Amino acid sequence: MARRRQIYEGKAKILFEGPEPGTLVQYFKDDATAGNGAKSDVIAGKGILNNRISEHIMLCLQEIGIPTHFIRRLNMREQLVKVVEIIPLEVVVRNRVAGSMAKRFDLPEGQRLPRPIVEFYYKNDPLGDPLVSEDHIVAFGWACPQDIEDMVGMAMRINDCLCGLFMGIGIQLVDFKLEFGRRWEGEDMRIILADEISPDNCRLWDRHTQEKLDKDRFRRDMGHVKEAYQEVARRMGILSENSANAVNPAGDNESLDTVQHLFVHNDGVSK
Ligand code: UDP
Repeated sequence: MARRRQIYEGKAKILFEGPEPGTLVQYFKDDATAGNGAKSDVIAGKGILNNRISEHIMLCLQEIGIPTHFIRRLNMREQLVKVVEIIPLEVVVRNRVAGSMAKRFDLPEGQRLPRPIVEFYYKNDPLGDPLVSEDHIVAFGWACPQDIEDMVGMAMRINDCLCGLFMGIGIQLVDFKLEFGRRWEGEDMRIILADEISPDNCRLWDRHTQEKLDKDRFRRDMGHVKEAYQEVARRMGILSENSANAVNPAGDNESLDTVQHLFVHNDGVSK
């Protein structure tokens, strides 16, 4: 089979040219990085879990009318997505204080915010993704005021939807990061949700025990990273109930590729 043209390689995903014009194949890697690449490792099976979790969330968001780049899952590690021109901003929504916000304001992690807060970070690794204001965004031409209004509106609706989705499975949505892209349809441009939504870019805490079920387990060397992602997938109904212990029972580096039968709705797509 002809080798596909690679369009872009990021820290956790690779984009390949898609089968039809205007499409891309988004491949989920097992690589994990933190601290702007200072720390990196491979978490066997993470890409498979994130592919499924992100698919589930994107489909839920589409149900409530959020436009997304997601078209369909192709196989265990890949999904077909629409080509977009990525807006160079990370849009973070926070329901509780955690991470960089706890550090910046010297606040205890977990404190509930009186209302959800939306923040923008400029996507620029050499600069360490600095926090920016709406004035910076407009002044530097990354987005216009209407684009910002559209992104904030979608981010708030996504937050409402995801808070409910996660609360229903006993998880608090502490914060998460979104990326948006521009999609041209003839003369018309519209902003749609891109990238992924998974435990790599959300903070997810068990509602009762406050156990972390997200990438902070990797960032903070807490261990059991994959098990936490599996738990999220299991609660979402993506991994079958009895799979949690069966996946990687020896705790070695065996890939989840070999245990794809453990997924619910394993629709037989080829690898
Ligand atoms: N986040 C992300 N990518 C980044 C930075 C942050 O996905 O490059 C997510 C992170 O997982 C968390 C939220 O955005 O859910 C807020 O992250 P924060 O600003 O607290 O940064 P961190 O503590 O990760 O440095």
